[in-house]
Amino acid sequence: MTARQSQPEPYDAVIIGAGFAGLYALYRLRAMGLRVLALEAADDVGGTWYWNRYPGARCDVESMSYSYSFSAPLEREWVWTERYASQPEILRYLQHVAARFELRSLIRFKTRLARAAYDEAADRWQLQTEAGAALTTRYLVMATGCLSQPRLPPIPGLETFGGQVLQTSAWPHAAVDFAGQRVGVIGTGSSGIQSIPQIAAQAAHLTVFQRTPNFSVPAHNAPLDPVERRRLMDNYPPFREQLRTSFTSLIADESPQPKALELSAAERERRYTQHWQAGGIRLMFCVSDVITDQAANDTLANFIKDRIRETVREPAVAERLVPKDFPVGTKRLCVDTDYYATYNRANVELIDLRATPIVAITPTGVRTTATEVPLECLVFATGFDAVTGALLAVEIRGRGGEPLAQAWRDGPRAYLGLMIAGFPNLFTVTGPGSPSVLSNMVISIEQHVDFIAGLIAHVAAQDGRAVEAQPQAEVDWVTHVHEVAQTTLYPQANSWYMGSNIPGKPRVFLPYVGGVGPYRQKCDAIAAAGFPGFTVS
Ligand code: FAD
Ligand code: NAP
Repeated sequence: MTARQSQPEPYDAVIIGAGFAGLYALYRLRAMGLRVLALEAADDVGGTWYWNRYPGARCDVESMSYSYSFSAPLEREWVWTERYASQPEILRYLQHVAARFELRSLIRFKTRLARAAYDEAADRWQLQTEAGAALTTRYLVMATGCLSQPRLPPIPGLETFGGQVLQTSAWPHAAVDFAGQRVGVIGTGSSGIQSIPQIAAQAAHLTVFQRTPNFSVPAHNAPLDPVERRRLMDNYPPFREQLRTSFTSLIADESPQPKALELSAAERERRYTQHWQAGGIRLMFCVSDVITDQAANDTLANFIKDRIRETVREPAVAERLVPKDFPVGTKRLCVDTDYYATYNRANVELIDLRATPIVAITPTGVRTTATEVPLECLVFATGFDAVTGALLAVEIRGRGGEPLAQAWRDGPRAYLGLMIAGFPNLFTVTGPGSPSVLSNMVISIEQHVDFIAGLIAHVAAQDGRAVEAQPQAEVDWVTHVHEVAQTTLYPQANSWYMGSNIPGKPRVFLPYVGGVGPYRQKCDAIAAAGFPGFTVS
């Protein structure tokens, strides 16, 4: 090998991840004429929709909203079949996007980024993959996902279990046959709540190990009405614009709603019932103050609790399923198909881990303080180290060799959730302090990637080599993010939004709750003013 061949290849931008964010970043930055490459740990595109193949996995933001808007031809040709697309359909969509825009040849699959160090003399990132390959790039775009670092709780004895162990977030590609089996599911967040009814329908017996009951609303999923779908497809641009400028980006029709306590009890009940019957997360937004006013929140929480008690026949089981210790919506509201009714099945048992915690996993099952449950298969639906997990899983070192883990030891800080002071030329798509997980993530991803592209073009226009967030701009933004969070009920819950699900993780509200539309306006104003808060050198 000559000396020249042994030099790492210089890229203009290396993107980590090939989910919704990585694919769009590749498309957008290549269109600017940059030499781009993506690294992806999986052997295919898809991100979330590659990994989470568990039965029942589907989006909870409606399909027509949960898709890219950057290409009108793509919008015209892709026809969603259901109100909430299933995991296989979303994965096919992302595979189609990769093929249609010829992105695959720009992606190195089965390649995990292990280390990234900023070379201050060259204003470049030096990258090293897990397999030891070296690369160098001007810009490093972390499109590593907010919910991509799975979390398996360290329950003693797991390694001794003789049956099959599955994780919703790393589900096998071949279909899993639960027929005739005794199955256990640990975890009742969105993943557990989507998969439990499907597993219960196949298994001989299902035991659900629940630590904290969650609020869940019915999806009322159905095939899309062809006429309604055509009407929306013909009106995509204004529909997308509504989503982009809305507060939540989750629903397009955000007309002003009354405060819960301004309505009479009967009016409130009618409104909640109407939205419950329509299905989906819009129930959260049918009054304006659920997330800011405890008394308003109680009215909706009580409405959902009544639906649980009404659905689950055995009163003691219903009581175990009723959430008690956090306001509705402060943990991600779950969207289900037949979740509560599943507990009426004769083959389903619910164990309350608060009353009888798990002591150990044994070779033949799970032992709690009260009983031993024999199992042939154990499913972990135990969530993720959210928002910062995948970023901190890479050893990232900025100016002066400072590790990102050190810079974020008291919680993450980033200007607009996009760039970190001391880490030039590093971008975080849907990073901490951006609307990210509180939004329709495709909308947020497109906005972030467009902003990053604009900032890179701004650097190029000045013949710059590096761009970095200014420390004061970052402090001001992080302060604002925390102040806005404090005006809501969110900090009251022990949620993954707060980092509470990971022992030792700083308890900081991770996303920006100031609204998707307002956040976009701020970013647009910053771009229009020549990117104040960022230093180009
Ligand atoms: P991801 O899709 O997570 O992709 C990140 C990719 O980066 C992964 O493929 C991962 O392998 C790769 N990666 C990470 N680290 C490295 C590394 N060091 N080296 C190489 N590769 C790496 N959001 C919604 O808005 N609506 C929904 O309905 C919705 N449903 C969801 C359902 C499930 C089951 C889950 C888990 C999440 C859901 N989300 C939903 C959130 C979802 O994560 C986002 O909508 C979106 O898919 C994120 O795309 P992304 O490209 O940012 O990240
Ligand atoms: P999650 O919401 O964090 O739920 C994890 C579950 O595991 C919780 O019930 C948790 O209980 C439990 N758990 C964790 N450790 C445990 C332990 N040691 N013992 C017993 N129980 C334990 O994770 P998720 O369900 O994967 O969802 C994460 C996010 O992904 C969602 O909030 C959502 O944003 C997204 N998602 C969306 C959909 C969708 O509908 N489209 C589907 C799946 C995921 P505690 O609450 O007590 O910690």
